[in-house]
Amino acid sequence: MGHTPDIAQAVEALRAGKLAAFPTETVYGLGADARSDTAVAAIYAAKGRPQFNPLIMHVASLQEARRYGAFSDTALKLAEAFWPGPLTLVVPKSADCPVSLLATAGLDSIALRVPAHPVGRALLTAFGGPVAAPSANLSGRLSPTHASHVRDQLGDKVAEIVDGGPTEVGLESTIVSCLTDPPSHLRAGGVACEEIEQALGIKLAGGEMEDGKPISPGQLQHHYAPDATLRLNVERAEPGEAFLAFGPDVPDHNGVLKNLSPSGDLQEAAANLFAHLHELDAAADRIAVMPVPETGLGEAINDRLRRAAAPRTLDV
Ligand code: AMP
Ligand code: MG
Repeated sequence: MGHTPDIAQAVEALRAGKLAAFPTETVYGLGADARSDTAVAAIYAAKGRPQFNPLIMHVASLQEARRYGAFSDTALKLAEAFWPGPLTLVVPKSADCPVSLLATAGLDSIALRVPAHPVGRALLTAFGGPVAAPSANLSGRLSPTHASHVRDQLGDKVAEIVDGGPTEVGLESTIVSCLTDPPSHLRAGGVACEEIEQALGIKLAGGEMEDGKPISPGQLQHHYAPDATLRLNVERAEPGEAFLAFGPDVPDHNGVLKNLSPSGDLQEAAANLFAHLHELDAAADRIAVMPVPETGLGEAINDRLRRAAAPRTLDV
């Protein structure tokens, strides 16, 4: 069994809003068109992740990355020094960033990387757009370093698996946030912190890690927090509240109303979650939210709603 990566078929799958797994130099990624809310929702459904954490957008070049993110001089320096390679940069989203709000979990920032694997890069170049991709494993399982790992865990959920042989690094990408000055080291990975500090000639913030998490996360926003207050699991909105509904049986509401999924489909609800929240947040100071079932993607939706409803001081 040789590796004949069929890039054209994977590109077609991505264009059709389906999932395609592909090799990067770190691990196999589970890719979807990052501009499509429904394609990104399919990633979460396939992985069975109980939470929506922001994903890393994979692109073919720095030039393309700059369409989606605003690069400071420091961010440019890091991209020029380490891309293509296992370094992910968190930067502010560009003004007209077409990336799905679900992919960035509603944040104003975006994580971008140009992977070095020739097969992965060929796919990204041929696709010509941003590909959101977490590791191609089921939630809680080991990261896949062979196409067969992906096939075993996700074979029935991905349209295409591009086999590029075993991946080299097996580690995740290092994540550096350029939202802070100096930049912050968010996750250890394929590029050593010291190498990055050497390239910049300065120390990174939050270099001290504990359990894989930075000790001093600085002023980073980790969860999307609406300005509005949320009231969860309510059957009926009060006057003055915006109403985030779910399912076919929605009580009359005299005010702004968005339905996550009129048919009660959780994948559709996931795809709409952040866009609807943003819209209601802009329209009202209080948002009432109908109950969403705790099954399948409902778990991640409810997790995110509870975080959005929690007092800000807990949201670090
Ligand atoms: P994974 O896809 O499992 O490699 O994990 C991606 C990780 O990147 C997330 O869990 C976050 O820790 C990090 N990340 C992605 N986007 C952002 C962002 N906008 N701000 C901060 N961290 C991010
Ligand atoms: Mg992972």
